Amino acid sequence: MSTLVIEGLRATVAGREILRGVDLTVNSGEVHAVMGPNGAGKSTLSHVLMGRPGYTVTGGRVLLDGTDLLTLPTWKRAQAGLFLGMQYPIEVPGVSLRDVLAEAFTAAGRDASQVPALVGAEAARVGFDERFLLRSMNADLSGGERKRNETVQLGVLNPKFAVLDEIDSGLDVDALRAVARRVEAATTESGLGVLAITHYTRLLTELHPDRVHVLSKGRIVTSAGPELAEELETTGYAGWAEDEEQAASTASRPADPFADPLA
Ligand code: ADP
Ligand code: MG
Repeated sequence: MSTLVIEGLRATVAGREILRGVDLTVNSGEVHAVMGPNGAGKSTLSHVLMGRPGYTVTGGRVLLDGTDLLTLPTWKRAQAGLFLGMQYPIEVPGVSLRDVLAEAFTAAGRDASQVPALVGAEAARVGFDERFLLRSMNADLSGGERKRNETVQLGVLNPKFAVLDEIDSGLDVDALRAVARRVEAATTESGLGVLAITHYTRLLTELHPDRVHVLSKGRIVTSAGPELAEELETTGYAGWAEDEEQAASTASRPADPFADPLA
């Protein structure tokens, strides 16, 4: 059993504070959805977790089984068991998916000769066309194919925790189901813990969240069970769309439609 603890995480991008104290704990086998309006800092959170250059951490810790990931370079975070599925997976000319995964296996001291078989099996599970496996990563792939590609990587690498940034964006219904089912299966087969960043609840009909969090203006403003995702479907994020000054000055949130009346 592993635990990913995000504690008081603050970060700036281009001199602007985007994450303003994020607290979140994910255990093995759990799915946590992070939802929220555009510009809330959801992608920034995923980049900061993985250590993308250009994002400056100004406070807090991210502990994977007690090890502070923020002190490690990106490749060591990956070796420690963290995986990032990017919102916009990039093309990597001249490097195939198999090459990338074989290198990752070698670097981690795993047997790289297993990679082709594992990749084939994972590609079949999510309906990723075998023809793409030898091509340059993501070259000329549609948005949906790129997300299947990310999911193949996830399945082969078998990380402890996956941060999936809008893995549902650009997917048709069939691809969405295939990807979400594969991730859901990993939570039970290998105890994968998931931080699923999404705008929409449709992903969550296949990938069942244990907790749903709303990120607004760089903070988790509310957390609840899966019913919160359904409520957001009808209410939207209007309750959290206050201006920055107000957010900074008000500790309590009168507009919170999900506030516990007994609290
Ligand atoms: P979300 O994923 O929730 O839509 P983002 O994390 O992408 O939000 O962005 C949050 C804010 O940070 C936005 O105002 C965005 O313009 C800014 N931001 C994110 N990344 C960068 C960057 N690399 N350079 C400048 N501003 C950025
Ligand atoms: Mg985003």
